[in-house]
Amino acid sequence: KELTDINKLVDESLRLSFHGLRAKDKDFNAGYKLNLDPDLPQLNVISQDLSRVLLNLINNAFYATTQKSKNENGDYQPEVIVTTKKVTSGVQISVKDNGSGIPDSIKEKIFQPFFTTKPTGEGTGLGLSLSYDIITKGHGGEIKVLSQEGQWTEFLILIPDTSKA
Ligand code: ADP
Ligand code: MG
Repeated sequence: KELTDINKLVDESLRLSFHGLRAKDKDFNAGYKLNLDPDLPQLNVISQDLSRVLLNLINNAFYATTQKSKNENGDYQPEVIVTTKKVTSGVQISVKDNGSGIPDSIKEKIFQPFFTTKPTGEGTGLGLSLSYDIITKGHGGEIKVLSQEGQWTEFLILIPDTSKA
């Protein structure tokens, strides 16, 4: 673990995901917003692992907007919003999209290894289970999901500031 600028990691992950997806798909038309808390403390994290979590959440978020675009006409503006915030116990990161949402019937399953709703070749179903382990076991943090089917999804990560313990 190394003392890490979380805002920089979030910013890099978002750009990497956005430019990668746009290069691969000529119809990709999603936008993004980045709200970075200027008062964020640096945290002791495994930055490679945290990047993998962020990339997976952000790729999932853009994918969900692409899915929704297929069923909408005209005025749907796909968007992913990534926010960092200093909280009492550490740092909170939110990845929110206005895409397809997650039906209540599968909300409990999405963190299980190999659970995916994507066609073969497009998803392994390992992203969220790995992310769960990295955040909880690897960093003593929390990850949870809020969603409204057909409307939006938000993943919230809490990474504790261990220097305060
Ligand atoms: P994969 O991306 O390979 O399918 P993940 O573990 O990353 O595997 O995600 C598991 C499943 O959780 C996805 O297939 C999808 O059904 C659901 N999911 C994850 N993120 C989102 C999101 N932002 N919006 C809607 N569904 C999501
Ligand atoms: Mg994934």
